[in-house]
Amino acid sequence: MVNSKLNSHQVFNLISEIPDPEIPVLTIRDLGILRDVKWDNNNYNVTITPTYTACPAIPFISNEIKRILNEYGIYNCEINISYEPAWTTDWLTKEAKLKLKQYGIAPPLHSSCAKKIGAESQIHCPRCNSNKSTLLSNFGSTACKALYKCNSCEEVFDYFKCH
Ligand SMILES: [Zn+2]
Repeated sequence: MVNSKLNSHQVFNLISEIPDPEIPVLTIRDLGILRDVKWDNNNYNVTITPTYTACPAIPFISNEIKRILNEYGIYNCEINISYEPAWTTDWLTKEAKLKLKQYGIAPPLHSSCAKKIGAESQIHCPRCNSNKSTLLSNFGSTACKALYKCNSCEEVFDYFKCH
């Protein structure tokens, strides 16, 4: 049985709220991992792009997509992993950057800003918003984050590095 009651847009919405396993406040839509859902050849073709080439979250996310769709009686889905174009932190939505900040992680600068010399040496503290911060380590809790300390409120925080 092919469940074609849902259109590809509805399927997109069903799976868009899957949380990222590393930063659960962000959904795969927030991060820009979920690219597209198309109805093609009696299949829902879901395209996802890993945040980093060796992203360990992809098997988890693929399983979650299938599990959720199965709950809706959808078994005809194919997951395509697309590396072209490559994911960049510029794909994070505005909401994603806000959620990160509320979560205590400084959101990534836009790539055009991060390229400016010294831009990443003045990351705004997610707690007090001061831009007087010191880089403690280029690798924070994960390789995609750097560890900073705020010079104003002394908060130690992760910065989601521009990628
Ligand atoms: Zn601070």
